[in-house]
Amino acid sequence: LEWCVSVPKVELHAHLNGSVRNSTLFELARVLGDKGVIVFSDVENVIMKDDRTLHEVFKLFDLIHILTTDHSTVTRITKEVIEDFAAENVVYLELRTTPKRNDSIGMSKRSYMDAVMEGLRAVSSVDVDYSPAGLKTNTFNGSTRKKMYVRFLLSIDRRESTEAAMETVKLALEMRDLGVVGIDLSGNPIVGNWSTFLPALKFAKEKGLYITLHCGEVPNQEEIKAMIDFFPHRIGHACCFDEENWRKLKSAKIPVEICLTSNIRTETISSIDIHHFVDLYKAKHPLVLCTDDSGVFSTSLSREYNLASSSFGLGKTEMFQLAEIAINFIFADDGVKADLRATFEEAVKKLN
Ligand code: 5GP
Repeated sequence: LEWCVSVPKVELHAHLNGSVRNSTLFELARVLGDKGVIVFSDVENVIMKDDRTLHEVFKLFDLIHILTTDHSTVTRITKEVIEDFAAENVVYLELRTTPKRNDSIGMSKRSYMDAVMEGLRAVSSVDVDYSPAGLKTNTFNGSTRKKMYVRFLLSIDRRESTEAAMETVKLALEMRDLGVVGIDLSGNPIVGNWSTFLPALKFAKEKGLYITLHCGEVPNQEEIKAMIDFFPHRIGHACCFDEENWRKLKSAKIPVEICLTSNIRTETISSIDIHHFVDLYKAKHPLVLCTDDSGVFSTSLSREYNLASSSFGLGKTEMFQLAEIAINFIFADDGVKADLRATFEEAVKKLN
């Protein structure tokens, strides 16, 4: 594991509210428990449960959102999550989150995202670059401290309407200069229809935002086919594909964000030795190891690398290459890619 920690890594599929430390969730739950808003012991049981079906995971998210969704807490968890990724040598992070509107506490999607940005600016353990392509405000200049790139993806929740999805896309466009680079479609896969989100996703694509979709978490072949035909820049999971869609995915060469622990813990894949990572890896299909929800699934990116290495018999050379090749699939410009490649070149000298 130590070696996997020391390798520089790229994280492309991490949900903000799924990556919150358990200790923070407990602390927040205790405060709300004392106020009588929730029953602390209920929360404790839910948070500590080890295996959860995909359905139970979404129930847990409803609970997490009660604990985290006010401006100051959003700021706090953003800072902590970024610092946690930095601590395990993530050199480029695309963090995704669903902008939330909650009129009762005066929260709009924009003010939610402003709270996220405040958390980003509060990060103190590393130098963070969140300046998008074209903006010459590189915070790295002259610094010798550890550095990290952070970019944001705004998630559309499958419970949302076309209008709400469109609002998220417009917000992403508004916040481009602040490091928002794309759109994600996530949320309970048995809820909502592809046709509801399509207009907003098309608009996003036309405007040059990058798109990644949660695709094939349940065996809905019609939706999977429609998603591949949309040609997103990446997809997440790709678990329940039939043969035809599998062929389509491979010929389309759409990069896949692989979340091993998440797939096993939610029973989307019954056991690690039959995980589709192997097939994609052997076919040299573009793929990247990711955490999904490091808090909810008690994992880390280093653990995911360690798990892949031990489960699929991959040595250090292969694992390093796997980490480095992820640079090709990031939603950032060539300058960032070149800088990351240099970081990996430096690292390989030190690791050997
Ligand atoms: P947030 O967007 O609130 O920061 O992060 C939590 C949200 O991410 C959840 O409410 C859910 O919409 C989405 N999410 C987290 N993990 C998963 C997953 O494994 N599958 C899907 N489809 N959505 C997820």
